[in-house]
Amino acid sequence: MQTNLADWIKDTPEGREADAILRKCVHCGFCLATCPTYNLLGDELDSPRGRIYLMKQALEGAPVTARTQVHLDRCLTCRACETTCPSGVQYGRLVDIGREVVDRKVPRGFADGAFRRLLRFAFLSGPLFAFGLGIGRLFRSLLPSALAKQVPPKREAGAWPAARHARRMIVLDGCVQPALAPDINAATARVLDRLGISLVSVPQSGCCGAIEYHLNAQGAALDRIRRQIDAWWPHLEAGAEAIVVTASGCGTMVAEYGHLLARDPVYAQKAARVSELARDVGQVVAAEREALAKLLAGKPPVAEPVAYHAPCSLQHGLKQKGIVESILREAGFTLTLVPDAHACCGSAGTYSILQSELSGQLLANKVKALESGSPSAICTSNIGCLLHIESGASRPVSHWIGLLDDRLA
Ligand code: SF4
Ligand code: SF4
Repeated sequence: MQTNLADWIKDTPEGREADAILRKCVHCGFCLATCPTYNLLGDELDSPRGRIYLMKQALEGAPVTARTQVHLDRCLTCRACETTCPSGVQYGRLVDIGREVVDRKVPRGFADGAFRRLLRFAFLSGPLFAFGLGIGRLFRSLLPSALAKQVPPKREAGAWPAARHARRMIVLDGCVQPALAPDINAATARVLDRLGISLVSVPQSGCCGAIEYHLNAQGAALDRIRRQIDAWWPHLEAGAEAIVVTASGCGTMVAEYGHLLARDPVYAQKAARVSELARDVGQVVAAEREALAKLLAGKPPVAEPVAYHAPCSLQHGLKQKGIVESILREAGFTLTLVPDAHACCGSAGTYSILQSELSGQLLANKVKALESGSPSAICTSNIGCLLHIESGASRPVSHWIGLLDDRLA
């Protein structure tokens, strides 16, 4: 695609990056078939190709309207289009740049801006979030059913093994996961402990930065990422082998640290190292297959079939399609066939709140697909997908590492 970026952006790092991405797009339209919003709405401007065209116009200096912003807001950043694209268009990077430019030209109204700030505050408030969740759980039975579905039940973490192995890894705590599902990281610690690796939680670390970054508070997100790196760095210097991420959405963000801070004179090298050492828990377990097979030797297959939902962040962001399914099969689970497994569940960070109607339609389609094989349970790799699917499913939903933990217990 030919481009002619406006003078105010063409010589900036973002302008050069966006220009290189835009030039790769040949407008073939292959990506339309796998775009969830195009499939729902049937509007070219709600497809990857249409959004690329809108961003090109904005970057070339054409007038930008609120309609442009709406079409970009409706994008889930699921990156299914990246997986499908034969030309290697990095849509995810482009839409981050495009949204920032469009938001500068079309300031959000007071209510929209305030709601986005409130979301950032709520998700990042740590103890306050936990307190609010506790109150919600306390009065869950009194809430209208639609609201009660949004308050997940309490999950017991279980014991976290003492650090007894020479091999150590650190774990990303995340922003809301410790309050909503402390069982996920604890189960990871138990599984890795059996595999000869001690998992260490770093109390000073927290949110990966994705909430702020994708709500267009990119400066605040980069500051948070620098603090995250500062918290992890002493552990990496002391020999921690990897940073284990149990939410694939956060994993995609940590994998981007090196790119996002590439021009930071103080943090560029450290950020690149952190990204290099970040691993989804599926990658960590897959690398220990031999030890896992020994632990599983002699166990009969699991009788009840389960359905696995592969989050977009795992399959399209981290490009780890099939990794968890193969571990679960090797561990004796039978996985049901899930139609349209590439499709987004509609969670997508704060998307389920900001675009609740579209998100609800995607959720209904996803639950139908996941339950079509009559599984006894559903599992996934990302806290956002887990809670979103749980709000619509009729079967228990959990992180797959919990199933493996139970299997090894
Ligand atoms: S598939 Fe790739 S090259 Fe083709 S229109 Fe979509 S983004 Fe552009
Ligand atoms: S990221 Fe997902 S929703 Fe956005 S354009 Fe690509 S496929 Fe469509």
